[in-house]
Order: sequence, then structure tokens, then C-alpha cells
Amino acid sequence: MPPPRTNLLQLDREAMAGYFAGLGERPFRAVQVLQWIYQRGATGFAGMTDLSKALRVRLGEEAEIRLPDIVRRQDSADGTRKWLLRLEDGNCVETVFIPDGARGTLCISSQVGCGLNCTFCATARQGFSRNLGVDEIIGQVLLAWRELDRAAGDYGGQAGGVFPPEEPGSGGRPITNVVLMGMGEPLLNYDNVVSAMRLMLDDYSFGFSRRRVTLSTAGLVPAMDRLGRECAVSLAVSLHAANDALRDRLVPLNRKYPIADLLAACRRYVERRNRERITFEYVMLRGINDTAADARALARLLGNLPAKVNLIPFNPSAGLDYRCSEQDAIDRFRDILMKKRIMTVTRRTRGGDIDAACGQLAGRVRDRTRRAERLARQGGGTSCAEPLL
Ligand code: SAH
Repeated sequence: MPPPRTNLLQLDREAMAGYFAGLGERPFRAVQVLQWIYQRGATGFAGMTDLSKALRVRLGEEAEIRLPDIVRRQDSADGTRKWLLRLEDGNCVETVFIPDGARGTLCISSQVGCGLNCTFCATARQGFSRNLGVDEIIGQVLLAWRELDRAAGDYGGQAGGVFPPEEPGSGGRPITNVVLMGMGEPLLNYDNVVSAMRLMLDDYSFGFSRRRVTLSTAGLVPAMDRLGRECAVSLAVSLHAANDALRDRLVPLNRKYPIADLLAACRRYVERRNRERITFEYVMLRGINDTAADARALARLLGNLPAKVNLIPFNPSAGLDYRCSEQDAIDRFRDILMKKRIMTVTRRTRGGDIDAACGQLAGRVRDRTRRAERLARQGGGTSCAEPLL
């Protein structure tokens, strides 16, 4: 059997330079090949005309540029588009594109399933299988970019233009922002997530600015500090409660890193980022966390942080016993925060008709925690009960 090929999507610039050094090539091959893959959309090596013939042949034998397979694409009435992607081992994850005027946000997954078990989240109910590889994370961006470019007409881009744009995010091109808010807890897959984000930021690759790549975390304090030092992208924190007793219940990770520790880490993070705001996500759960007192407590917590609050109307999902707050309660909550001068927006639910909204992503997870199985026995089965492909 020939040795397995190296999927070049696994390699950020530094790793790629190491790979070419190993082939006896000069390190600058890395930037040439990155540009071919991420700026010109190359799918093979034959056309990489600034590489020697011999190198192209060798890469053709030993390397590959391999993306996950698209199992299914769903289009929402509001323009949101969701792909179910199959990975090599049969697990599936979801990726969502959300167009919004000139902005196009791609929401990507970082793990197959999730191990955190937040009680209001559909992904949690599927259990956890494994971390995604760098190739599987950056592959979601590359794949969506290709797919959207092909459909550029739908999104106001120029069909048939150079692929992808010379300057991502400009010229009416579809993806302007990437958020790690899909399946999984990105900071529990730190190394692969950071390599993939480095590729997103690399000028020889997608070249997104740090402000346009957002990592969302349930609050893994030590990894937040490391991220601040090593790859300070925009940060979103899933807060959801203004006191520890409630947050312990909603986000069990809080028992390990309670609110005071989490906010101290946020403070350290913003110091490193010239005090750019952190986004706090707060899911609106009827009768649970949506009173005026909750809003005032939240305002006190965030008082002296550069913060922005995103109120997320709870998105229902099979087997989840919560309800979304009434509109009046959401408006009142927002007004209280705004009066305390905390910038607050209520996130519009997007892609709800295709189960693509926050907390609804559910791929097909070969669950190793058996959580899905237990829940199904209790009669609260979710889509994870479907057979794996
Ligand atoms: N694990 C990371 C990344 C996931 S981001 C994190 O927790 O931040 C997904 C966001 O959607 C999180 O803020 C999550 O709390 C929120 N969410 C989960 N389930 C939801 C639901 N049913 N309705 C609305 N938002 C939900």
C-alpha cells in the first residue's frame, strides 16, 4: 500500500514551509501553494505553473487537496444556506452561510458534536465524537467559498470572476466574516482551531482581518488567555446567566470556571486587543433568565468592560424543554441594558426553517459519550437517532 497522501489543507503556512523543507524545497513554495489553493481555487497540482514540473509530479503522488463531501444543502427562505458535510470517517458536521446586506457570515463547526452539555443546545444532545482536523475546519471555509462563488449570481457577486476575490470581503464577494459558532467548543480543539484561524488570517490565504474572525466560547478560561497571547481574534462569550447558580445549570462548564473568573479572563483579553469589544451572547429563556432583575444583574457584571450583548431568542429543538421569552420580555431586557449604556442587539433568528439557527446544528455524530443513546431511551430523541450515513 502506498503511504497515505498529505492533505495540504492540514497545513498552515509554517507547517507548509516545514513540509516543503522536508521535500528539499525552499520554504517560499509554501506561499505559492497557499495562494494556489486559497486564492485561485486550485484543486490539483498540474496547473501550478510556477512550480517545477518535477515538484508538481511529486505533489501529485504524495499530496492532495481534499475537502469534505457535501451530503446535503438546504436553502432557507431568508437566504441562509446550510450544508451537511461528511468527513472521511463518516461523521457529519454542519456549516451555515448567513447573508445580511453587504455582510455574509459563515458559521463553521470546530468539533463533531460537543462535550459541554449546555442544557438548551441541540448539538449537546448529540454527544461528542472528536475534534475536527485543521483541514476539516478550513475546508468548511474553502468549500463554502467555492459553492457561493459558483452561485455568485444569487449573492450579488460576479460569476466567472477571479476565484476567490483578490481581497476577500470586498467587491461584493459572499463571505465577509467567519464565526466559530457552529458545532463544538472551539477552545477544546485549540491547536487545530488556531492553525485554521491562522490560515483564515494569512494574507497568502484568505486574508481576513482579525475583526472579521470571531471565536465563540462557553468560557474555557486558560485557553482564552492563551488565545489572547497567540491569536487574538474577536471573541464572543456565551454567558446566558448573570449569577453562578443559574449559569451552573445552563452551562455546566461554569462549575469549573465561574462568572468572576470568566469576566477576569475577558478583561485580560480586551487589554491585549486595544480594548476592542467582546460580544456576550445571552439566550432568552422564558421564565428562566429574562426578568428585569436579570437584566440589571447583567448590566452590573458588564459595567466596566468594553462589551456588546447579543440577545439570542431561544431556538427550539426536539427534546429541549425550554421556551423562548416573550417579545415584551426581550425588549424590556434590551432597554434596561441600553439605559446602562451597554450596546445590545437582539439577534434576528435566521435559517430557522432549515434548523440552521443558533443551537440547532446537529450533524451526524458517532457519539462516544452515549449521551444521545441515553436521551433517546428517555424518549427525547433528536435527529441523531437517524442512522449514520
Ligand atoms: N461552544 C461555543 C460555540 C457555539 S456558539 C459556545 O458555547 O460559545 C453557539 C451559540 O448558540 C452559543 O452562544 C450557544 O449558547 C447558543 N445556543 C445554543 N443553543 C441555543 C438555542 N437552542 N437557541 C439559541 N441559542 C442557542
